[in-house]
Amino acid sequence: MAAATEAGSRGADAAIIDGRAHADALGDRIAAQARDFAGRTGRAPGLAVVLVGTDPASEVYVRSKGRMARKLGMESFEHVLPETVSQSDLMALIGRLNADETVDGILVQLPLPGGLDSLAVIEAIDPGKDVDGLHPINAGYLASGLPGLVSCTPYGCLMLLRDSLGDLSGLDAIVVGRSILVGKPMAQLLLAANCTVTMAHSRTKGLAAKVGQADIVVAAVGAAEMIRGDWIKPGATVIDVGTSRVERDGRMRLVGDVDFAGARRRARAITPVPGGVGPMTIMTLMHNTLIAAHRRAGLPAPDLG
Ligand code: NAP
Repeated sequence: MAAATEAGSRGADAAIIDGRAHADALGDRIAAQARDFAGRTGRAPGLAVVLVGTDPASEVYVRSKGRMARKLGMESFEHVLPETVSQSDLMALIGRLNADETVDGILVQLPLPGGLDSLAVIEAIDPGKDVDGLHPINAGYLASGLPGLVSCTPYGCLMLLRDSLGDLSGLDAIVVGRSILVGKPMAQLLLAANCTVTMAHSRTKGLAAKVGQADIVVAAVGAAEMIRGDWIKPGATVIDVGTSRVERDGRMRLVGDVDFAGARRRARAITPVPGGVGPMTIMTLMHNTLIAAHRRAGLPAPDLG
């Protein structure tokens, strides 16, 4: 329980779950394992990131992923394609990356520009190199309890929850949001950790009451502060995945799906936005790349969770 203290249950403000500190510590372990991998195989784990178009936010994400890979001693291959690239040229690049022995992980930055078929691109990635964990085969492995590659954001959330709470067995969890990227794999991970899981979405009735029964709340909607502080069960642990830009006091600020100040008065521990889930997402991508590299080299994958 390194990243959060126990100060926060009823009466005292919730402990802050410090995603940056947790991600830094995980990064140190990944870097050590990447060095060990290079020593054994004669090459560093390799991550290929594909960016199509010039969306400024996507450019920032891709650059930061490449920087982090290099910082941790991995090889980074960045492929930037014009917005006008054809589906077949994009698929041909994926084919080359699948065949490239120096590439262990392939990440296609989403969303793709209109006109390109994202699902077809994801399905074209070798599931063993699908470090975003989005391929239906990896989703199926997760649902079946088999080892695969797990979507980065929910995997990071699970690590934060385990660090904060220890054993999750028997806890009531609610996941608000059911996307393939976050909500669905999050629910599967919590189920595998023996939680009793409720999945909520835009058609859910009585959301406040359902949230109010949960020991663990994972919010992944993308609606600024829609989960009110007074919905939170006293002593619950709150993981806020959502990110929305809102104007406050004349400045643009990043906020989560949860009313942080209100929830902090009731929860035992909570992730801030920014500085909670975000830093873990990039680090679990590095973690997945390390795991993929070991599996591809026929080495046992290190357990850094
Ligand atoms: P998404 O694909 O848009 O899914 C949003 C989900 O929220 C959908 O399942 C939707 O339900 C549900 N929803 C919408 N309105 C709702 C409401 N009023 N009550 C309950 N549920 C509602 O989004 P996503 O890709 O999962 O991302 C969710 C948020 O997490 C976004 O803010 C995104 O930026 C953020 N995110 C952050 C990170 C990070 O590293 N920090 C990583 C990934 C995503 P329906 O299915 O019924 O439409």
